[in-house]
Amino acid sequence: MKLTILGSGTVLSKERACSGFLLESGRKKLLIDIGEGAFTNLKRVAEPADINTILLTHFHSDHASALSTFLLYRRLVFKYGPIKSASQLNIIGPKGLAAFCEALDNAFPTLKEVPFKVVTKELENSFLMMPGFRIKSRVVKHESTIAYRIEAEGKSIVFSGDTAYCEDIISLANKADLLVLECSLPDSLPSSNHLTVSQAASIAKQANVKSLLLNHFYPQVENEPIEKIVRNIYSGSLRIASDLMVIEF
Ligand SMILES: [Zn+2]
Ligand SMILES: [Zn+2]
Repeated sequence: MKLTILGSGTVLSKERACSGFLLESGRKKLLIDIGEGAFTNLKRVAEPADINTILLTHFHSDHASALSTFLLYRRLVFKYGPIKSASQLNIIGPKGLAAFCEALDNAFPTLKEVPFKVVTKELENSFLMMPGFRIKSRVVKHESTIAYRIEAEGKSIVFSGDTAYCEDIISLANKADLLVLECSLPDSLPSSNHLTVSQAASIAKQANVKSLLLNHFYPQVENEPIEKIVRNIYSGSLRIASDLMVIEF
């Protein structure tokens, strides 16, 4: 599989786009979250019209705000652009997804005219087969958020979305090849909504993942010695995400 980081930051980041990931297995593509800036980065590395499935972890705007832009792009490309055959768009997310998409349609009325079918699917602790991918979701500790475990080509990758420390992300990530984990805050600022550096490292250690990719950094954590702190806890492969980083595994 091939992972491209479209956004490694948060809404407060000056140098990083908000959350977004492109996951590819052969010619099959999944988009995971699409916050501010992530869609612009997506256009740099792929044709957005080729993407037929989006997975949202939750509805905070740093993870979902560019969905409307993505839909408008797809509408214009299929209506006026060189690509004429519009395929169905699958939007997968936590409970409340259908209401969220309906609210978007009402806020941006032109989206109602998209020349393709949009199918929404709400997941909780669920299992789902998509062409080329097996997807497992688990509710984690953040406002209406699900994390995803995606398997293809005999490999597994887990996306935490936003979460506080919880057993569910540890069990979902068990022995994953790659854990894409939020790392919002320094150890000095623990939170009931997000992870500190040491908590993220502890999750990677307990889940016994092969490789850890930290992302979703608030400014307060950017100047921390993240690698040094993690290395005291977790000994597997470690990367600090940056926008447009590519990982093949
Ligand atoms: Zn959030
Ligand atoms: Zn967030």
